[in-house]
Amino acid sequence: MNLSDFTVPIVTINLPLADKYGISVAMARVDTVHPLASGNKLYKLLPNIDYALQNNYQQILSFGGAFSNHIHALALYAQSVGLQSIAIIRGEKEYANNSTLSTATAAGMRLVFVDRATYKRRYDKDYLQQLQQQYPEALIIPEGGSSELALQGCTELMRQINKSCLQRDDSIPDTVAVACGTGMTFSGLMNGAQPDQTVQGYLVVKDHSVAKRVDDLLANHSQHQPYKMHYADLGGYAKFKAPLLEFILEFLQQTNILLDPIYTSKMCYCIMQQIEAGQFKVGSKLVIVHSGGLQAWYGMKRKVVMLAGDYAWQKIEGYL
Ligand SMILES: *Cc1c(COP(=O)(O)O)cnc(C)c1O
Repeated sequence: MNLSDFTVPIVTINLPLADKYGISVAMARVDTVHPLASGNKLYKLLPNIDYALQNNYQQILSFGGAFSNHIHALALYAQSVGLQSIAIIRGEKEYANNSTLSTATAAGMRLVFVDRATYKRRYDKDYLQQLQQQYPEALIIPEGGSSELALQGCTELMRQINKSCLQRDDSIPDTVAVACGTGMTFSGLMNGAQPDQTVQGYLVVKDHSVAKRVDDLLANHSQHQPYKMHYADLGGYAKFKAPLLEFILEFLQQTNILLDPIYTSKMCYCIMQQIEAGQFKVGSKLVIVHSGGLQAWYGMKRKVVMLAGDYAWQKIEGYL
């Protein structure tokens, strides 16, 4: 499979607030592009998997939290191409039974649980060398799949978004919005954007090093433009509170689209605040990237029921 074989559907969404402020909003349904590797993870994983296959690696090893979308996508996608997968997971063995990790194990992934201090070393050269000695057959890729190869994949994603927009109504959006964790997807979109397009990133982790990493990544690429990154962690990474759930349910009601609980919901929440604060020009065309991540909802079930009852959960589950 080649990334250029895929198409990103663009759908108009009618949000009363955006209408009121004269902003046209569409969503790039990257979450629907592939059944195994959800959302942006497809664009980051595929170039890495191709590299592994071309270079005769037997295994692929990566890193993630216990509810990681990347680990979920990696396990399923690697299995489908006959590669063994190994994941270094931050946390205790008891997480192995959660929905994300039990899906991964069922797809043949081997899980290795490490404590926080060890996980913190995931970018250290000596730790990576040690892992390579332990798993000599494995291609090691960083957390989130965010390797240099992933930058190319996410650059291609931006081209596909523009291509779909052009086919739809002969124009490209002036602004594209995307949620950021490591910032790799954002960097790729920036790299693939046309000179008159703005990419806005919404950072859902409290990590001030992300902007620096984006700068470093883009420094090597000619199209480097000024960009905007907004802090959108709403109380911390994966912190999920009642107002966010209310917002997600209202958004679902208005658009028939379910956002994920960690990334896209926080981005959209912030975008609505920005629209209300007049931060988007009247007449502007905004495309919001739905980067997937819906599998994370299974880890939120108890929380949802506690905050809003069984009915809310059933409503969400109907879209999973
Ligand atoms: C991983 C993920 C992101 C963040 O991607 P980065 O390239 O790490 O910034 C955004 N949205 C969803 C749904 C994700 O799973």
